[in-house]
Amino acid sequence: MDEMKMRRAIERKRDGEALEPQLWEAVVAAFVEGGVDDAQMAAMAMACLWRGLNLEETAALTGAMVRSGRTLEYSPGAVVLDKHSSGGVSDIVSLVAVPLVAACGVRVAKLSGRALGHTGGTIDKLETIPGFNVSLSMEAFVAQVEGVGCAIAAQTDSIVPADKRLYRLRDRTATVPSMGLIAASIVSKKIAGGADAFVFDVKCGSGAFMRDPERAAELARMLVHLAHRFGRKARAVVSDMNEPLGLSVGPALEVIEARDVLRGAETDARIREGCLQVAEAMLDLAGIEKPRTAAVSALDGGGAYEKFIAMIEAQGSSRAALEAMRPHPQRHPVRAACDGFVTGIDAVCLGNLAREAAQTHENAGILLSVRVGRRVERGAILAEVCGSHVGVHHVEQAISIGSTAPVPRPLVYAAI
Ligand code: URA
Repeated sequence: MDEMKMRRAIERKRDGEALEPQLWEAVVAAFVEGGVDDAQMAAMAMACLWRGLNLEETAALTGAMVRSGRTLEYSPGAVVLDKHSSGGVSDIVSLVAVPLVAACGVRVAKLSGRALGHTGGTIDKLETIPGFNVSLSMEAFVAQVEGVGCAIAAQTDSIVPADKRLYRLRDRTATVPSMGLIAASIVSKKIAGGADAFVFDVKCGSGAFMRDPERAAELARMLVHLAHRFGRKARAVVSDMNEPLGLSVGPALEVIEARDVLRGAETDARIREGCLQVAEAMLDLAGIEKPRTAAVSALDGGGAYEKFIAMIEAQGSSRAALEAMRPHPQRHPVRAACDGFVTGIDAVCLGNLAREAAQTHENAGILLSVRVGRRVERGAILAEVCGSHVGVHHVEQAISIGSTAPVPRPLVYAAI
């Protein structure tokens, strides 16, 4: 495809037309080969964001992205599972659910992404564990899934290279929250990763790309539908992201929180439940009987933690390195300016602050001491900013306090 043809395709999308499957195939192939540059692809992404992609276009884009690289295969036999989140703040579900499900005897192969917009990326989190290698060769990835039972790695240049480039471009050009682009990005990675069945965790709320439960359910149905079209089994849960899922925001801090959930340390009930719900859906999809009981006993019996250690050791790190991880020692408290109830915690603001802080200080970010709904007194610590005092004022602004208790929100809105 040459520059003029791409320009014509952008114009048609800008004007609200649906593009044909062959055209999507040509756009993706030219983008990967260099015939379409970042400027034209960014314009196309913005046109998709404003005009939308219909189901046929999304399926065509997904298929073209899968065909831009290799697809992994596992030895026949036991089912291989994968899970993916549409993106959230303090979302450590993958770090807990992947080893938990593997500890129940189900193989899990997870290809993950980096931070996107204000949301955290599993790969950035794992990279904070000293020695951890996120860049496995695809042969090593498959061998680890078959040997250890689970692996989490970054997509390489040979796996969905189209998504790898487009993902970064969407992040730079603020074109992430397009339902079709999100669906094609997620499902293409899952198909190429070679798993037989997927659980999609679609986040919904002020801290998610999908703000309301209806839009999130629409994305969830689209993800499941696309997976079926490619011959895979799939489920989705629509879960709340009106406040950070856990109490830690920042890549290393989230690893520390995941480690503590896996070790059974006294952790926040909401994050533990969020991880269990996804793990339960994965185990159910794999045909495990009494999936909730299996998930709880793998978590409480220590099997999930030992599987996490086996995974990080296979990927170059060690138990000692993980257990030595601590939040940055400089901590700056954020205090309540008045008595009242916590009525909101702005996850977008905290996600952006933590992403910035982690670029300049190791193990930096924000540790929350409160949840939405908590009663606080003037002067009480609401959060601590670790590593840099720069964000203290913004964190204070991000936590709203009102005189009446807010209506509690469910953790999971729908299962699809
Ligand atoms: N996760 C992805 O892999 N892609 C998106 O576009 C959003 C979340």
